[in-house]
Amino acid sequence: MSIYLSASLVCPVSSPPLENGVISVDDDGRILELIPACMAKERNLEDVRFLDGVLVPGLVNTHVHLELSHLKGKVEEGTGLPGFVRQIIEQRAADDNEISEAMKLADAEQYRNGIVAAGDISNQLISRSVKMDSAIYYQTFVETMGFNPAMADEIIARVRKLKQDFLPLTAAIAPHAPYSVSRPLFDLIRAEGNTTCITIHNQETAEENQFFQRKEGHFLDLYKFLGLDISFFQAQQLTSLQYFLPLMPDDVRILLVHNTFTSAQDIKFAVESGKDIYWCLCPNANLYIEKRLPNLKLFRQEGLKVTLGTDSLSSNHQLSILEEMKTLHFQAAIPFDELLRWATLNGAKFLGFDQQLGSFEIGKKPGINLITDMKEGTLQPETAIQRIL
Ligand SMILES: [Zn+2]
Repeated sequence: MSIYLSASLVCPVSSPPLENGVISVDDDGRILELIPACMAKERNLEDVRFLDGVLVPGLVNTHVHLELSHLKGKVEEGTGLPGFVRQIIEQRAADDNEISEAMKLADAEQYRNGIVAAGDISNQLISRSVKMDSAIYYQTFVETMGFNPAMADEIIARVRKLKQDFLPLTAAIAPHAPYSVSRPLFDLIRAEGNTTCITIHNQETAEENQFFQRKEGHFLDLYKFLGLDISFFQAQQLTSLQYFLPLMPDDVRILLVHNTFTSAQDIKFAVESGKDIYWCLCPNANLYIEKRLPNLKLFRQEGLKVTLGTDSLSSNHQLSILEEMKTLHFQAAIPFDELLRWATLNGAKFLGFDQQLGSFEIGKKPGINLITDMKEGTLQPETAIQRIL
């Protein structure tokens, strides 16, 4: 049986918006037809359910850490990244039940907020059962970290086992960040050849560039706190992106997350590297940790593939891609259609879910959301989302 849904605006993402358009779906939510208003009128369709708002496909959260959900509201804001990392290390230990309950709530919150797929960073197995039971499609990234080169073999063996233990969920071994992965460990991750997509935290703080260019700044205090002797490390005279990008695998989609201190030169370097790069923005987490946003103008160039992420509840007040879109709209006046592409199709392509998700196209089962309380096509503080299918 076909169900007909209509709204003031239908945004397929992969084709132009349809004013008062109609979508027909089967019982399973698979798209059967996209019908412009004039044709719907001609065909005299019966039983069309009209919704007041904008119909959009399911949203994609390309960067979350479910396993940190129990830290919601516990981490002090505005400390900068080294202080944030330290707080996470000090506070993350908790009872397994408490962690599991918080993850279930976080998964349900994402679902309610219209999220249909997520890239989830995991450095333990504890999120496996939540993801197995979820209606959200998850791509797990097994977070790999160890800055001491002598530990590289031991660490890769541990994450290889963790990746196996996540089966049948799809998981990929991925480096945490350039300042937490040694060069030999980068080489081992690259040699794994285990995935079509990989991710890394990139230039979340100015300290990261300072550390790689001059071996200075607050990261030195962090290594001291961790009891790690980094006398082996030499300043690279390069920004962190220019140091680590050549160490990332070729022929896979690479998601660079945060990019708060990424410069025009870094972007040029990345484009010229020939690697298949996606840029994930997590504006609310950036404001939480560093009280800074990336230079958003730089990411609106033709050809750059931008996605959105919430990061975890340790650095965000909610897991809502719509809230990330609002922040970007209010801070940088980025138009709704551009934000919507970042929030849907680009993320689905990065995660490899675009056969099913990311746009209203015949044959896909992308999920359907209604966005309400927009004014003249723009997001408002009171704009909300509700899941229709
Ligand atoms: Zn993160």
